[in-house]
Parts: sequence; C-alpha cells; structure tokens
Amino acid sequence: MNNDKAGQSIPHYDAVVVGAGLAGLYTLHRLREMGKNVIAFEAGDGVGGTWYWNRYPGCRVDAQCYNYQYWFPEQVLKSWDWSERFPSQPENEAYLNFVADTYDLRRDLHFHTRVTRGVYDEARSTWRVYTDRGDVVDTPFFICCVGILSDAIEAPFPGRENFKGMVCHTSRWPKTPVDFTGKRVGVVGTGATGIQVTQTVAPLCRHLTVFQRTANYTVPMHNYQLDDAANRELKQHYPEIKQRSYASFSGFDFDFDNGSFYDHTPEERRAIYERLWADGSFTFWLGSFFELFVDEAANQEISDFVRAKIRARVKDPQVAEKLMPRDYGFGTRRVPLDSGYFETFNRDNVTLVDVKPDPIECITESGLRLTSGQEYPLDILILATGFDAGTGAFAAIDIHGRDGRTLKAKWDRDIRTTLGLQVEGFPNLFTIGAPLAPSTALCNMYLCMTEQADWALEAIRHMDAHGLHSMEPTREMEDAWVEHHDAIANSTLVTKTDSWYMGCNVKGKPRRLLSYIGGSVAYRKKCDEIAEGGYAGFIFG
Ligand code: NAP
Repeated sequence: MNNDKAGQSIPHYDAVVVGAGLAGLYTLHRLREMGKNVIAFEAGDGVGGTWYWNRYPGCRVDAQCYNYQYWFPEQVLKSWDWSERFPSQPENEAYLNFVADTYDLRRDLHFHTRVTRGVYDEARSTWRVYTDRGDVVDTPFFICCVGILSDAIEAPFPGRENFKGMVCHTSRWPKTPVDFTGKRVGVVGTGATGIQVTQTVAPLCRHLTVFQRTANYTVPMHNYQLDDAANRELKQHYPEIKQRSYASFSGFDFDFDNGSFYDHTPEERRAIYERLWADGSFTFWLGSFFELFVDEAANQEISDFVRAKIRARVKDPQVAEKLMPRDYGFGTRRVPLDSGYFETFNRDNVTLVDVKPDPIECITESGLRLTSGQEYPLDILILATGFDAGTGAFAAIDIHGRDGRTLKAKWDRDIRTTLGLQVEGFPNLFTIGAPLAPSTALCNMYLCMTEQADWALEAIRHMDAHGLHSMEPTREMEDAWVEHHDAIANSTLVTKTDSWYMGCNVKGKPRRLLSYIGGSVAYRKKCDEIAEGGYAGFIFG
C-alpha cells in the first residue's frame, strides 16, 4: 500500500475495471477467475451499460437474442429464456442483471461512481485512479470498458436551459414513465434511436414533429414472441449458432453466404434481396453481398431496392421523397431495423421537418427555432442526437500516460490505437471497445467485446507468468496497425460517407473509421498471431 500526499494510505488492487456494461461485467468476472483482486467502478446505479442508460420509449436491440448474449456462462445459457426474437431494453437490462447476480459481480462493483482520472507512474508501473466520489486507488492494470456509444451529445444547439417543457437526451431517459398524452412532442434525430422513438411515441402523443437532417435507410424488423418450446429449440441449436457466429465476418450466425454479387443475374439477386428482406434482421445488410461495402454499382442496386421499399410505405410522395436517402449508399452508415417507422409518417398527427436546408438554430422557451425563424411549439423535446462515439467516453477520463501525455490530446490530434486494445504511451492501459477494433454492428458486440477482453487478460497472464510489470505497443507497431486498419477501411464505401462511424458527427474530431472493418475472423487471427508470437511489437518492463 502507498500513501498519498496527505499521508493517507492508498488501497492497491490487481486491476481496476471501468464500466459495468457487457464488456465490464465480463472482464470483472474473468479477472476474478484468474484470482485477481479487482475493483470496478460504474457511473450508473445499476449494471447494463448501454442497456442501463438507454431506457427511451421503444428501445430494443437490433440483433437476434440468440446472437446477442454471452456464450461463456453455461448456467445462464441453460436457465435464461428470451421472450422475443429482438428483446426490448428492459429484457436486455434484466439479462445483464441476471448474469451479475449469477456470478455475484456486484460484490466488487461501486455504482454511482464515475472514474475521473488515471495517472501512470512509470517508476512503479502503476496507475493511480481517481473517482468523482473521492476514491483513490492504485493498480497495475487500468482496464477501461467505457462503451463505444456512451458519451451522449446532449446539447448540439443552444438554449436548452430556457425550455419550459421536458427536454431529454434518449440515453439519459428517466426511469419513471413519461406521459405523452395530449402532448406536442419533438424528436431531433433519425438514427437508430430516433427511429425507435418516432415509431413508438407517435401513437401516444397529440402531435409529433420529427426533425430530420439526414434520411436513413432501414430494414423492417421481423420480431416475434418466443415461448418455452421456442426457447428449448433455440438452446439445442446454441452450439452451432455459436460456431457460425465465430466463423462469420460480423460475429452473427449468418454471413455473406450468397457468393459474389456478380455470380447472379439481376433477377436472382432480386429474389435474394426479397428473401433477406423478409427475414427482417441484419441479414439484409451483413448477410447479402459483401460488394455493397466496396462496389459502387452493387451498392447502387441495393440502395435502389431499399428506396423503392420506402416509397411503397409512405402515402404522400413528397414526404416519401424527403425520407429517402440520396447522398450515400445503403449500409455505409449503421442500418437500423424499424417497426412501422415509415408508416408513422402516414399518420395525421406526425410532421416531418427537413432541417438540412434550414438547420435548427436553438431551443426556445416554448420549442425549437430553425435558422429561417420558423418556430415549432413543443411540450416535450427528445434529443436522439447520438454520441461522441468510440473516443468520447475514454477522453472524458483525464488519462495521463508516460511522460505526461494525455489520451485526449493524442486522440484530438489523430485517433490511433494498437488493435483497439492498447495505446502507445499508455502502458498497462487496456481499452476494450476503443477505436480500430471491430465494434457496433460491424461486429456483434457480445462476441467482439468478450474477445477483446480475452486478449487483454491473456496479456496480463503472460506478464504474470514471466514476471513482467508493464506492456505497451511500440510506435512502429501502432503505425502498422493504423496503416492496416486504414488500408481496409479506405477500400470501402463506408469511409466516403459522413456518419458517426467516421467521427463526422462531432465538430473537429479527426476523421477515421472507428470500427475495424476487416471482419471478426481476420481480427481474431491478427490478435492470436501477436499473442502466440510472444507479443512482438510490444515493449515489456
Ligand atoms: P446517431 O446514429 O448518431 O443519430 C443521431 C441523429 O441526430 C442523426 O440523425 C443526426 O443527423 C441527428 N442530429 C445530430 N445533431 C443534429 C443537429 N444539430 N440537428 C439536427 N439533427 C441532428 O445516434 P443514435 O440514433 O443514438 O444511434 C447511435 C448508434 O447507437 C446506432 O448507430 C447504433 O449502433 C446504436 N443503437 C442501436 C440500437 C439498437 O440496437 N436497436 C438502437 C439505438 C442505437 P445526421 O445524421 O445528419 O448527423
């Protein structure tokens, strides 16, 4: 135990885990299995991460339940039943609580506690970690599982404090139900979140105004209930679902199984699109043709197919026209699944406002004002305005590595990591879910977060076994990973589209694809090669 400046003794832990979302809970559990004395901090007052914070109306997962779960806990796999193919937020949150209870994870978790600062002491190979509740702890391993989509963009325009009604970002939604009856509601944002909010709130309120800056492609979700028999049947297939998931590009139990786009006639392709469309899942996106990511002509055909589907769902041709994405290709932004989203605009109580030509200027006392001076009176304003993805939640912690350098300053210049798991200049900092690793929708989060945590834990085991105290990628290693990441990313159409994937939703953020797009299998191979080869490219102390 060390002392602080006032002579107080500082508790020492074998590892500090930040976050109790799906990556944090898994990491905590595995570290305990390794016999480590761990402390974990979580800003919320419960476990779940994304599924704790995002309790907005209509929130549900866009991945099938049997893909979107841990594969490790045998007892949970056996005993947990899913009620729907695409479970809602409360069910996902309940599942993570069930896992936490099954493994008694709360014992080492400190809720309502935000980690504010981490400072590396090179002489002692130790991180000193501080929280907003006054905790100060020392640890060799600082493992941040802070989430890719957790740093909300809450105030993209001024005036919020003047609004007399209720204004709320979707990821800060209150636990108590909000009554929409008789209310004029505004939703800003038409990403995956805004779409779910729109289709859910429209039937509940007096009037809904949707403020859209960029139109979105969606695929209609085919959701259904799962009874006992369906759960029993699913469980029988878990071994093969798991096997297929680990063998696929995106970590789901399907893949680009249709051969090349060019192997088929247009008629055959059309039949494939219709079949995948009817499945009502990510298969249309991540299980159709890989060419949609890399080939303009293929992407154009698929985008046209989806636009025609949108046109057929919206009665007013002018509204349909506004709802159709024109300036980017299908799948180059995250594709949401919807449940009646486009039909919502056929309702008499819903208005679509295109704020691209006339941007939102500010929130007023009574609603929203556009740059033209047009005002929209509202009682409730819902900000589905997204997140400072990938880097935001890490940069919110004041992380000081070697030689006084800070992670925020490094990423403000250029977003660089090694495998998304370590950062040059920050020994023994493990960044699960950080940029340049596979994540959100380009990879199934349960699969890729647990794999990334496993790599970090294996590295710790390696250090323990060899009496090593610190680990950090070399500059050359990081250069090589960034170059490899960029080479793949820049060969796709994703980098040509502005979106949060590219950091474009945050002013001044360096442009780079945040998620690795080489596929989950290729990423795992790289990670395994490095570990099995004795971590060439990493410096140990
Ligand atoms: P998002 O995709 O970043 O969407 C934010 C929306 O707000 C966009 O439509 C954006 O317009 C708009 N916006 C931001 N600032 C604005 C401004 N000043 N004026 C007008 N419009 C503005 O965020 P999200 O919908 O929260 O989704 C983020 C990610 O979370 C998703 O891509 C997905 O990975 C995940 N998610 C998953 C689920 C699920 O599994 N079901 C549900 C929700 C979210 P622009 O597009 O023009 O920037």
